[in-house]
Amino acid sequence: MKYNANEPANIAAVIVCAGKGERSGLPYNKILHLIGRKTVLEKSVDVFLRTRVNHITVVTSPDDISAVRDIASAYDDITVVVGGDTRAQSVYLGLQAYPCDIVLIHDGARPYVSEDIIERAIDSAIEYGSGIAAVPCVDTVKRVQYGKAHSLPRAELFNAQTPQAFRYSEISDAYSRADGVFTDDAEVYESAGYTPRLIKGSYDNKKLTTPADFISPAKSSRIGIGFDLHRLVEGRKLILGGVTIDYRLGLLGHSDADVLTHAIMDALLSAADLPDIGVLFPDTDDKYLGISSITLLKQVLGEVERKGYIIGNISAVVIAQSPKLAPVIPDIRRSLADALNIEINQINVSATTTEKLGLIGESNAIAANASCILTENTDGKH
Ligand code: MG
Repeated sequence: MKYNANEPANIAAVIVCAGKGERSGLPYNKILHLIGRKTVLEKSVDVFLRTRVNHITVVTSPDDISAVRDIASAYDDITVVVGGDTRAQSVYLGLQAYPCDIVLIHDGARPYVSEDIIERAIDSAIEYGSGIAAVPCVDTVKRVQYGKAHSLPRAELFNAQTPQAFRYSEISDAYSRADGVFTDDAEVYESAGYTPRLIKGSYDNKKLTTPADFISPAKSSRIGIGFDLHRLVEGRKLILGGVTIDYRLGLLGHSDADVLTHAIMDALLSAADLPDIGVLFPDTDDKYLGISSITLLKQVLGEVERKGYIIGNISAVVIAQSPKLAPVIPDIRRSLADALNIEINQINVSATTTEKLGLIGESNAIAANASCILTENTDGKH
């Protein structure tokens, strides 16, 4: 059968996820590991479905079939089949499940494959029969025989990756005759007398294998800063971080005037790129008259979580000439940690004076500064 790049071909992919992935150190199949809000498997599937590939067969183990079927049910064009004892058997079962013109075989543990690589592999398979993603060897490779190391010419060496694209009839023929141990599909193809052709892969297209590969590297962090100051007056309660402090003066404001909680809210909102508390909770709105700032803090936390962030840590300083805050700081940290559903070591509060200088030094006001780090919620729990 002759293929012409101008003629539409039925192009499909087999994604192989039937291994146990024991080297990953994870207590579950690595293809079910979350990267951001998607599993390793979904990441690959999404890339393939943005290319000319119009059907995907996922080959999985009996242990993971229900989890993989759950994932597949969100897509229209995925078939899930159970694999065999070896990778070669699994690939063969995957090939038989969906006959087509051009097939790409891909490791489920390579979620960073790009559309470009897939398209190049397809073009090469249409024109030459195969397209094997590969990158030049970075390390010098040694062959050891009888204890002696021999250097191999690096310019001739490539690391094969996946996807590996083939004419369906040829790779099916090769697999139907495969006998022996093969490490990739190109080797099976070659063993049947066909000539594999390499296409440019990418160093980013790595196979997730060892525990270090599963430490989320792409977690993005965002910094935030907040500041507030309230006047100290008679006849008001002094509330800091939700804790009422015994003092002859209190802070004046529309809400409970909890200056520390206000600074923390603004730091969180700033880090999440949300409007500040003046916009969210205007002091012209009677709804907020005398309201506990801790109630507002919980609302702010909800907004931050909806944007997909969790709190890394918060660091705040209260600037007050009096009263002495050191004795109440543990209570303040506990109160804020409880409101924000974080550990006490994620919220540090310190206190300082202004050496009796200025508004604060004369006990006419208390100010607070807060900064925070938010991180992307990569476990998708919200
Ligand atoms: Mg305020």
